[in-house]
Amino acid sequence: MLILLRFCLLLTGFLVVNTSLVAAPRKPFQFNGKSIAPGQKLAVLLSVIDGRDTAVVPVTVFQGRKPGPVLGIIAGVHGYEYPPILAAQQLARELDPTQLSGTVILVHLANVSGFLGRSVNVNPQDNKNLNRVFPGKANGTVTERLAWLLSNDIIGRCNYVVDVHAGDAPEDLRPYAGYYNYFDTPELSEKGRQMAVAMGFPYVIQFGNEPTLKAESVYCSREAIKRGIPAADIECGRLGMPEAENVALIGQALHRLLVHLRIEEGTLPAAPAPYLVTRRVSIDSQHTGFFFPQVKAGEFIYKGRKLGYVTDLFGNHLTDVVAPINGVVLLMTATPPINKGDNLFTIGEAPRPE
Ligand SMILES: [Zn+2]
Repeated sequence: MLILLRFCLLLTGFLVVNTSLVAAPRKPFQFNGKSIAPGQKLAVLLSVIDGRDTAVVPVTVFQGRKPGPVLGIIAGVHGYEYPPILAAQQLARELDPTQLSGTVILVHLANVSGFLGRSVNVNPQDNKNLNRVFPGKANGTVTERLAWLLSNDIIGRCNYVVDVHAGDAPEDLRPYAGYYNYFDTPELSEKGRQMAVAMGFPYVIQFGNEPTLKAESVYCSREAIKRGIPAADIECGRLGMPEAENVALIGQALHRLLVHLRIEEGTLPAAPAPYLVTRRVSIDSQHTGFFFPQVKAGEFIYKGRKLGYVTDLFGNHLTDVVAPINGVVLLMTATPPINKGDNLFTIGEAPRPE
Protein backbone atom coordinates (compact mmCIF):
# COMPACT_ATOMS: atom_id res chain seq x y z
CA MET A 1 0.00 0.00 0.00
CA LEU A 2 2.80 2.34 1.00
CA ILE A 3 4.66 1.48 -2.18
CA LEU A 4 1.53 2.13 -4.22
CA LEU A 5 1.07 5.52 -2.51
CA ARG A 6 4.70 6.43 -3.21
CA PHE A 7 4.25 5.40 -6.82
CA CYS A 8 1.11 7.57 -7.10
CA LEU A 9 2.92 10.56 -5.56
CA LEU A 10 5.80 10.02 -7.95
CA LEU A 11 3.40 9.80 -10.87
CA THR A 12 1.54 12.97 -9.76
CA GLY A 13 4.85 14.80 -9.44
CA PHE A 14 5.87 13.61 -12.86
CA LEU A 15 2.58 14.73 -14.40
CA VAL A 16 2.80 18.17 -12.75
CA VAL A 17 6.31 18.70 -14.09
CA ASN A 18 5.28 17.49 -17.50
CA THR A 19 2.18 19.68 -17.90
CA SER A 20 4.14 22.74 -16.83
CA LEU A 21 6.32 22.28 -19.90
CA VAL A 22 3.34 22.72 -22.23
CA ALA A 23 1.96 26.29 -22.40
CA ALA A 24 -1.74 26.32 -21.52
CA PRO A 25 -3.83 27.50 -24.47
CA ARG A 26 -5.09 31.07 -24.07
CA LYS A 27 -8.63 31.02 -22.77
CA PRO A 28 -11.56 32.86 -24.30
CA PHE A 29 -12.74 35.99 -22.44
CA GLN A 30 -16.22 35.66 -20.99
CA PHE A 31 -18.27 38.84 -21.28
CA ASN A 32 -22.00 39.44 -20.92
CA GLY A 33 -22.74 35.74 -21.36
CA LYS A 34 -20.64 35.44 -24.52
CA SER A 35 -17.29 33.75 -25.09
CA ILE A 36 -14.67 35.71 -27.08
CA ALA A 37 -11.91 33.49 -28.47
CA PRO A 38 -8.27 34.66 -28.63
CA GLY A 39 -7.77 36.81 -31.74
CA GLN A 40 -11.47 37.77 -31.85
CA LYS A 41 -13.48 40.85 -30.96
CA LEU A 42 -17.10 41.26 -29.98
CA ALA A 43 -19.30 44.37 -30.06
CA VAL A 44 -22.15 44.30 -27.55
CA LEU A 45 -24.82 46.75 -26.49
CA LEU A 46 -25.22 46.48 -22.72
CA SER A 47 -28.47 47.76 -21.29
CA VAL A 48 -29.72 49.22 -18.04
CA ILE A 49 -33.40 49.42 -17.14
CA ASP A 50 -34.70 51.15 -14.02
CA GLY A 51 -38.44 50.61 -14.55
CA ARG A 52 -38.88 54.08 -16.01
CA ASP A 53 -35.83 54.69 -18.23
CA THR A 54 -33.60 52.52 -20.37
CA ALA A 55 -29.96 53.20 -21.21
CA VAL A 56 -27.65 51.33 -23.55
CA VAL A 57 -23.84 51.19 -23.52
CA PRO A 58 -21.90 50.23 -26.67
CA VAL A 59 -18.84 48.15 -25.72
CA THR A 60 -16.31 46.28 -27.86
CA VAL A 61 -14.11 43.61 -26.29
CA PHE A 62 -10.85 42.67 -28.03
CA GLN A 63 -9.41 39.36 -26.89
CA GLY A 64 -5.77 39.39 -27.90
CA ARG A 65 -4.21 36.25 -29.33
CA LYS A 66 -1.46 36.30 -26.70
CA PRO A 67 -1.79 36.60 -22.90
CA GLY A 68 -1.51 39.94 -21.15
CA PRO A 69 -3.42 42.34 -18.90
CA VAL A 70 -7.02 43.54 -19.25
CA LEU A 71 -7.28 47.27 -19.97
CA GLY A 72 -10.60 49.11 -19.68
CA ILE A 73 -10.91 52.27 -21.79
CA ILE A 74 -13.98 54.32 -20.90
CA ALA A 75 -15.18 57.22 -23.06
CA GLY A 76 -18.32 59.34 -23.00
CA VAL A 77 -19.08 59.38 -19.28
CA HIS A 78 -19.97 62.96 -20.23
CA GLY A 79 -21.95 62.88 -23.47
CA TYR A 80 -21.06 66.41 -24.66
CA GLU A 81 -17.31 65.68 -24.58
CA TYR A 82 -16.85 64.56 -28.17
CA PRO A 83 -13.10 64.03 -28.75
CA PRO A 84 -12.93 61.04 -26.33
CA ILE A 85 -16.04 59.48 -27.92
CA LEU A 86 -14.71 59.96 -31.46
CA ALA A 87 -11.25 58.69 -30.46
CA ALA A 88 -12.85 55.53 -28.99
CA GLN A 89 -14.72 54.92 -32.24
CA GLN A 90 -11.49 55.37 -34.19
CA LEU A 91 -9.57 53.06 -31.83
CA ALA A 92 -12.21 50.35 -32.29
CA ARG A 93 -11.41 50.35 -36.02
CA GLU A 94 -7.65 50.31 -35.43
CA LEU A 95 -7.30 47.58 -32.80
CA ASP A 96 -6.59 44.14 -34.25
CA PRO A 97 -7.08 41.39 -31.65
CA THR A 98 -4.79 39.02 -33.58
CA GLN A 99 -1.94 41.45 -32.81
CA LEU A 100 -2.74 42.13 -29.12
CA SER A 101 -1.32 40.59 -25.95
CA GLY A 102 -4.10 40.80 -23.38
CA THR A 103 -7.63 42.12 -23.52
CA VAL A 104 -9.10 45.56 -24.21
CA ILE A 105 -12.61 46.40 -23.00
CA LEU A 106 -13.55 49.57 -24.87
CA VAL A 107 -16.60 51.50 -23.68
CA HIS A 108 -17.36 53.65 -26.74
CA LEU A 109 -19.89 55.87 -25.03
CA ALA A 110 -20.93 55.42 -21.41
CA ASN A 111 -23.68 58.05 -21.46
CA VAL A 112 -25.64 57.61 -24.71
CA SER A 113 -28.62 59.64 -23.47
CA GLY A 114 -26.37 62.57 -22.57
CA PHE A 115 -24.78 62.34 -26.03
CA LEU A 116 -27.99 62.12 -28.04
CA GLY A 117 -29.67 64.70 -25.80
CA ARG A 118 -26.71 67.12 -26.30
CA SER A 119 -26.68 67.44 -22.55
CA VAL A 120 -23.84 69.14 -20.67
CA ASN A 121 -22.50 67.13 -17.70
CA VAL A 122 -25.68 65.25 -16.83
CA ASN A 123 -27.78 62.40 -18.13
CA PRO A 124 -31.09 64.13 -19.06
CA GLN A 125 -33.07 61.03 -18.07
CA ASP A 126 -32.62 61.76 -14.35
CA ASN A 127 -30.49 64.93 -14.45
CA LYS A 128 -27.59 63.23 -12.63
CA ASN A 129 -23.89 63.57 -13.40
CA LEU A 130 -22.57 60.04 -14.07
CA ASN A 131 -19.10 61.07 -12.88
CA ARG A 132 -20.45 62.00 -9.44
CA VAL A 133 -22.37 58.84 -8.49
CA PHE A 134 -19.77 56.04 -8.47
CA PRO A 135 -19.89 53.20 -7.47
CA GLY A 136 -23.58 53.63 -8.33
CA LYS A 137 -26.54 51.59 -7.07
CA ALA A 138 -28.00 48.30 -8.27
CA ASN A 139 -31.52 49.62 -7.63
CA GLY A 140 -31.04 53.37 -8.16
CA THR A 141 -32.00 55.76 -10.94
CA VAL A 142 -30.81 55.06 -14.46
CA THR A 143 -27.53 57.01 -14.02
CA GLU A 144 -26.81 55.27 -10.70
CA ARG A 145 -27.46 51.91 -12.39
CA LEU A 146 -25.15 52.90 -15.26
CA ALA A 147 -22.38 53.61 -12.75
CA TRP A 148 -23.08 50.26 -11.07
CA LEU A 149 -22.78 48.49 -14.42
CA LEU A 150 -19.51 50.27 -15.24
CA SER A 151 -18.15 49.54 -11.75
CA ASN A 152 -18.92 45.84 -11.73
CA ASP A 153 -19.08 44.67 -15.36
CA ILE A 154 -16.26 46.83 -16.76
CA ILE A 155 -13.91 48.24 -14.08
CA GLY A 156 -14.14 45.12 -11.90
CA ARG A 157 -12.96 42.97 -14.85
CA CYS A 158 -9.83 45.05 -15.53
CA ASN A 159 -6.19 45.14 -14.43
CA TYR A 160 -5.88 48.76 -15.62
CA VAL A 161 -8.44 51.48 -16.37
CA VAL A 162 -8.32 54.79 -18.23
CA ASP A 163 -11.25 57.21 -18.19
CA VAL A 164 -11.25 59.74 -21.03
CA HIS A 165 -12.77 63.23 -20.76
CA ALA A 166 -12.62 66.66 -22.40
CA GLY A 167 -13.70 70.20 -21.61
CA ASP A 168 -17.50 70.27 -21.66
CA ALA A 169 -19.50 72.82 -23.72
CA PRO A 170 -18.60 75.93 -21.66
CA GLU A 171 -15.06 74.80 -20.75
CA ASP A 172 -11.76 75.69 -22.35
CA LEU A 173 -9.11 73.15 -21.33
CA ARG A 174 -5.38 72.47 -21.59
CA PRO A 175 -4.93 68.76 -22.46
CA TYR A 176 -3.46 66.72 -19.62
CA ALA A 177 -3.34 63.27 -18.04
CA GLY A 178 -4.08 62.69 -14.36
CA TYR A 179 -3.78 60.02 -11.69
CA TYR A 180 -4.65 59.51 -8.02
CA ASN A 181 -1.93 59.67 -5.41
CA TYR A 182 -2.73 58.18 -1.98
CA PHE A 183 0.15 57.71 0.43
CA ASP A 184 -1.08 54.36 1.85
CA THR A 185 -1.08 52.68 -1.58
CA PRO A 186 2.27 53.76 -3.04
CA GLU A 187 2.49 50.91 -5.58
CA LEU A 188 -1.00 51.61 -6.92
CA SER A 189 -0.26 55.35 -7.13
CA GLU A 190 3.06 54.71 -8.87
CA LYS A 191 1.44 52.46 -11.49
CA GLY A 192 -1.14 55.21 -12.13
CA ARG A 193 1.64 57.79 -12.44
CA GLN A 194 3.47 55.62 -14.96
CA MET A 195 0.26 55.21 -17.00
CA ALA A 196 -0.34 58.98 -16.98
CA VAL A 197 3.27 59.79 -17.93
CA ALA A 198 3.31 57.16 -20.70
CA MET A 199 0.43 58.89 -22.50
CA GLY A 200 2.71 61.74 -23.52
CA PHE A 201 0.82 64.89 -22.45
CA PRO A 202 2.93 67.89 -21.38
CA TYR A 203 1.13 68.12 -18.00
CA VAL A 204 0.39 65.33 -15.56
CA ILE A 205 -1.94 66.24 -12.70
CA GLN A 206 -1.79 64.51 -9.35
CA PHE A 207 -5.27 64.06 -7.85
CA GLY A 208 -5.91 63.06 -4.25
CA ASN A 209 -2.50 63.66 -2.71
CA GLU A 210 -3.84 62.57 0.66
CA PRO A 211 -2.92 59.86 3.18
CA THR A 212 -5.80 57.59 2.15
CA LEU A 213 -8.96 57.36 0.05
CA LYS A 214 -11.63 57.54 2.77
CA ALA A 215 -14.73 58.61 0.90
CA GLU A 216 -16.92 56.90 -1.70
CA SER A 217 -15.27 56.60 -5.09
CA VAL A 218 -17.64 59.24 -6.65
CA TYR A 219 -15.56 59.41 -9.86
CA CYS A 220 -15.24 56.70 -12.51
CA SER A 221 -11.46 56.23 -12.40
CA ARG A 222 -11.43 56.52 -8.61
CA GLU A 223 -13.74 53.48 -8.48
CA ALA A 224 -10.82 51.56 -10.01
CA ILE A 225 -8.46 52.96 -7.33
CA LYS A 226 -10.96 51.97 -4.63
CA ARG A 227 -10.74 48.41 -5.99
CA GLY A 228 -6.92 48.45 -6.05
CA ILE A 229 -6.82 48.69 -9.87
CA PRO A 230 -4.27 51.17 -11.33
CA ALA A 231 -6.02 53.94 -13.26
CA ALA A 232 -5.44 57.22 -15.04
CA ASP A 233 -7.51 59.97 -16.64
CA ILE A 234 -7.21 61.88 -19.88
CA GLU A 235 -8.64 65.39 -20.32
CA CYS A 236 -8.30 66.50 -23.95
CA GLY A 237 -10.68 68.65 -25.96
CA ARG A 238 -12.54 71.86 -25.29
CA LEU A 239 -15.82 73.73 -25.55
CA GLY A 240 -17.78 70.67 -26.61
CA MET A 241 -16.14 70.73 -30.04
CA PRO A 242 -15.21 67.62 -32.08
CA GLU A 243 -11.80 69.02 -33.08
CA ALA A 244 -9.77 66.50 -35.13
CA GLU A 245 -6.52 67.59 -33.47
CA ASN A 246 -7.78 66.59 -30.03
CA VAL A 247 -9.29 63.33 -31.31
CA ALA A 248 -5.84 62.48 -32.74
CA LEU A 249 -4.07 63.43 -29.49
CA ILE A 250 -6.31 61.07 -27.51
CA GLY A 251 -5.77 58.26 -30.05
CA GLN A 252 -2.03 58.73 -29.81
CA ALA A 253 -2.19 58.73 -25.99
CA LEU A 254 -4.22 55.50 -25.91
CA HIS A 255 -1.80 53.72 -28.26
CA ARG A 256 1.08 54.91 -26.08
CA LEU A 257 -0.71 53.44 -23.05
CA LEU A 258 -1.28 50.14 -24.90
CA VAL A 259 2.46 49.96 -25.69
CA HIS A 260 3.36 50.90 -22.09
CA LEU A 261 1.22 48.00 -20.82
CA ARG A 262 2.70 45.72 -23.54
CA ILE A 263 -0.76 45.01 -24.96
CA GLU A 264 0.44 46.46 -28.26
CA GLU A 265 3.95 45.78 -29.50
CA GLY A 266 6.46 48.55 -30.05
CA THR A 267 8.52 51.04 -28.16
CA LEU A 268 7.23 54.33 -26.85
CA PRO A 269 8.18 57.22 -29.12
CA ALA A 270 10.20 59.77 -27.17
CA ALA A 271 8.22 62.56 -25.54
CA PRO A 272 9.51 65.36 -23.31
CA ALA A 273 9.09 64.60 -19.60
CA PRO A 274 5.77 66.08 -18.46
CA TYR A 275 5.49 68.73 -15.76
CA LEU A 276 3.92 67.20 -12.65
CA VAL A 277 1.23 69.44 -11.13
CA THR A 278 0.81 68.53 -7.46
CA ARG A 279 -1.47 71.40 -6.44
CA ARG A 280 -4.53 72.89 -8.15
CA VAL A 281 -6.46 75.98 -7.08
CA SER A 282 -10.06 76.60 -8.16
CA ILE A 283 -11.63 80.06 -8.40
CA ASP A 284 -15.42 80.03 -8.09
CA SER A 285 -17.74 82.90 -9.02
CA GLN A 286 -19.13 85.01 -6.19
CA HIS A 287 -21.91 86.34 -8.42
CA THR A 288 -24.50 85.38 -11.03
CA GLY A 289 -24.41 87.17 -14.35
CA PHE A 290 -21.93 87.47 -17.23
CA PHE A 291 -18.31 86.31 -17.19
CA PHE A 292 -15.69 87.95 -19.43
CA PRO A 293 -12.41 85.97 -19.32
CA GLN A 294 -9.21 87.68 -20.46
CA VAL A 295 -6.95 84.61 -20.67
CA LYS A 296 -7.15 81.24 -22.41
CA ALA A 297 -6.60 77.66 -21.21
CA GLY A 298 -2.92 76.71 -21.36
CA GLU A 299 -1.71 80.24 -20.62
CA PHE A 300 0.83 80.77 -17.85
CA ILE A 301 -0.44 83.32 -15.34
CA TYR A 302 1.28 84.98 -12.42
CA LYS A 303 -0.11 85.74 -8.96
CA GLY A 304 -2.07 88.99 -8.97
CA ARG A 305 -2.81 89.06 -12.69
CA LYS A 306 -6.34 90.03 -13.71
CA LEU A 307 -7.91 87.01 -15.40
CA GLY A 308 -11.31 88.47 -16.26
CA TYR A 309 -14.35 90.12 -14.72
CA VAL A 310 -17.98 89.44 -13.85
CA THR A 311 -20.95 91.75 -14.50
CA ASP A 312 -24.57 91.66 -13.43
CA LEU A 313 -27.35 90.90 -15.91
CA PHE A 314 -27.34 94.55 -17.08
CA GLY A 315 -23.59 94.42 -17.82
CA ASN A 316 -22.56 96.50 -14.77
CA HIS A 317 -19.10 95.53 -13.50
CA LEU A 318 -19.28 93.54 -10.24
CA THR A 319 -15.79 92.19 -9.66
CA ASP A 320 -12.41 91.44 -11.19
CA VAL A 321 -11.05 87.90 -11.06
CA VAL A 322 -7.40 87.81 -9.99
CA ALA A 323 -4.92 84.92 -10.06
CA PRO A 324 -4.15 83.63 -6.53
CA ILE A 325 -0.96 81.75 -7.58
CA ASN A 326 1.55 81.38 -10.39
CA GLY A 327 0.58 78.56 -12.71
CA VAL A 328 -1.06 77.30 -15.85
CA VAL A 329 -4.77 77.63 -16.63
CA LEU A 330 -5.84 73.99 -16.89
CA LEU A 331 -9.59 74.48 -17.11
CA MET A 332 -11.80 77.55 -17.29
CA THR A 333 -15.29 78.73 -18.12
CA ALA A 334 -15.00 80.42 -21.50
CA THR A 335 -18.62 81.37 -22.23
CA PRO A 336 -20.64 84.28 -20.73
CA PRO A 337 -23.30 82.67 -18.47
CA ILE A 338 -22.11 82.35 -14.88
CA ASN A 339 -23.86 81.32 -11.68
CA LYS A 340 -22.72 82.00 -8.16
CA GLY A 341 -20.52 79.05 -7.15
CA ASP A 342 -19.60 78.03 -10.73
CA ASN A 343 -15.95 77.26 -11.37
CA LEU A 344 -14.31 80.12 -13.29
CA PHE A 345 -10.75 78.76 -13.36
CA THR A 346 -8.76 75.74 -12.26
CA ILE A 347 -5.09 76.69 -12.08
CA GLY A 348 -2.31 74.14 -11.79
CA GLU A 349 0.58 75.51 -9.74
CA ALA A 350 3.61 75.59 -12.02
CA PRO A 351 6.70 77.70 -12.64
CA ARG A 352 6.87 80.06 -15.58
CA PRO A 353 7.91 78.09 -18.70
CA GLU A 354 11.39 78.93 -20.04
ZN1 LIG B 1 -15.99 64.85 -18.42
